[in-house]
Amino acid sequence: MQEQVDKIIKKEVERRRTFGIISHPDAGKTTLTEKLLLYGGAIQMAGTVKSRKANRHATSDWMAMEQERGISVTTSVMKFNYRDYEINLLDTPGHQDFSEDTYRVLTAVDSALMVIDCAKGVENQTKKLMEVCRMRDTPIITFINKMDREGIDPFDLLSDIEETLKIECAPLSWPIGMGSDFKGTYNMHKGELHLFSATHGGSIQKGEVITDLNSPRLDELLGSQADQLREELDLLQGAGYPFDKERYLAGKQTPVFFGSAINNFGVQEMLNSFVELAPCPGPRASTTREVSPFESDFSAFAFKIQANMDPAHRDRIAFMRICSGKFTRGMKVRHHRIGKDFQIANATIFMAQDRTGVEEAWPGDIIGVHNHGTIKIGDTFTSSKDELKFTGIPNFAPEHFRRVRLKDPLKSKQLNKGLHQLAEEGAVQLFKPLGNNDNILGAVGLLQFEVIMSRLKGEYSVEALYEPVEFHTARWLSSDDIKELEGIKKRYPRFVALDGDDNLTFLAPSQWRLQQAEEEWPKISFQKTREHQ
Ligand code: GDP
Repeated sequence: MQEQVDKIIKKEVERRRTFGIISHPDAGKTTLTEKLLLYGGAIQMAGTVKSRKANRHATSDWMAMEQERGISVTTSVMKFNYRDYEINLLDTPGHQDFSEDTYRVLTAVDSALMVIDCAKGVENQTKKLMEVCRMRDTPIITFINKMDREGIDPFDLLSDIEETLKIECAPLSWPIGMGSDFKGTYNMHKGELHLFSATHGGSIQKGEVITDLNSPRLDELLGSQADQLREELDLLQGAGYPFDKERYLAGKQTPVFFGSAINNFGVQEMLNSFVELAPCPGPRASTTREVSPFESDFSAFAFKIQANMDPAHRDRIAFMRICSGKFTRGMKVRHHRIGKDFQIANATIFMAQDRTGVEEAWPGDIIGVHNHGTIKIGDTFTSSKDELKFTGIPNFAPEHFRRVRLKDPLKSKQLNKGLHQLAEEGAVQLFKPLGNNDNILGAVGLLQFEVIMSRLKGEYSVEALYEPVEFHTARWLSSDDIKELEGIKKRYPRFVALDGDDNLTFLAPSQWRLQQAEEEWPKISFQKTREHQ
């Protein structure tokens, strides 16, 4: 019996691929997502992705949109089947100001797809997201997009990725020309040449495939570009890194594909390699041991909390990533941080096409659980009583700060409640300096502040305003030497604060002051990220 269960878990784990897309805005993430969903047969989703995206630059629209029931639910996790694989594509907010959310989503994936605009090369946001991937050595496949436009020379693009992101590139496909000369790609992995036709449009078409590089048909179709391709492939053999699956899985090498998402060219080629190469859910670290996905006991952690899915009920949904075992609807689990059992009666299992009738979920899948304020980001849940706490779901040092001032001082209780809840949700970080009663908010992106103000008003009836503060960055403090910590607290009562979880934090007014403090207190470690507790 147990053997049977183990076999089923193994099969379900091995056919799952849970990933996220990292890219700089406008590189083509939405377009590519739509095409991927097309292959998964989730065609009606394509419109949803677009409509959400269309408004993303306006805050008010963004907020109204998030509040529209359904849209965020369906787009937070897009689950689709492709061949024998079950794919969970975790959406990351389009606007870079919500990158903190994106960072956390990346803690719940097993691999990532990096989209790069061939005319821009590696951009800022991609660089930051790559740093986050590096924290867990997340394997990354690269898709160089917009080859139908003039861009940077492909060899230079590879050097750019290698130098800027410090990762080896192993091209698995190679473009034939670019822009108006773009003729297709040669897949080195499969030894196939795919010819591009701009009529590919949104539908799935095979296009002409040539398997022999020396075929005269190639010269007939490509003219002088045929010889150029042969030369470039020769050059690559000498200069490029050969694909090494181990190095890819270790996050040291990225297989690279070229294509054009809008023309649906090169997408299926990439998707085929993705399902074959990308890792299935793997073991995850906890404070006590490594948890294998094949264990029969269920375990999961919360990585995202989303509020206002339904404005009529102030509900909050906690998104949990399953790490091991099987989830069944109505299952009783232990909530380790608060040490209580609870029944997950009304979990949502996210499917791109169909959200009803799914009764079970497996490692790599994401379930949404109604949260009445008891679930925080980073919380661990298990079906067994085995004490467990998953690690690797960090808070990131904010880069923007504001002081919150109440318009009506009598509302300070509501303000505190609101700020605490919003901080727990991960919408913003809250700091209270030791030396005064200020409420300092920290955010990775500026738009977060606007959302908070509007939610304080809408959900907590608190009218507040922001004042600028001098802070520039934050570092979490820790040390075995209590005396040192007491020392810094005394020395900088305005800069040392407690965060929402009562951790000591140094709010630095400048890079220089931070450096000075680090030199002054060598026994204290100043951390840029902090694990949730
Ligand atoms: P996102 O911000 O990364 O989600 O980017 P989008 O998918 O919205 O794409 C940004 C812009 O680039 C849109 O105008 C797309 O139509 C366009 N785009 C996406 N893929 C391609 C492509 O392969 N070729 C060209 N020429 N444009 C593209």
